Amino acid sequence: MDCLFCKMISGEVPAEVVREGERTLAFRDINPQAPVHVLVIPKEHHPNFASLAADPALLAEVTAEVGRVAEDEGVAESGYRVVFNTGSGAGQTVFHAHAHVLGGRGLNWPPG
Ligand code: C5P
Repeated sequence: MDCLFCKMISGEVPAEVVREGERTLAFRDINPQAPVHVLVIPKEHHPNFASLAADPALLAEVTAEVGRVAEDEGVAESGYRVVFNTGSGAGQTVFHAHAHVLGGRGLNWPPG
């Protein structure tokens, strides 16, 4: 399958990994939108959030890793945002489910 994030999991494409679990990987976004911008992905290929959510245990592992990333990156207290862009109309460009973890600066609401 021609999936960029699957290639990062296999090591075929480099990634700046910050955490690795048995079923998850967390790495820095190549084009950070905040001082902290980490992507948390399941190792199993799911094209989007809806597909990932159909496996509640795996979704729970991904969200647990989000919390650990926020702690590791020092934004758990100051605040952070978790985003799953789902579908091209919402800005999804990589069709392997991923949680954006954004923090380290003030974040406006509503997002753009
Ligand atoms: O939500 P969306 O699908 O747009 O997010 C994909 C993210 O993957 C982008 O934030 C982009 O910067 C990131 N990316 C990356 N490394 C790549 C290609 C894309 O971190 N090689």
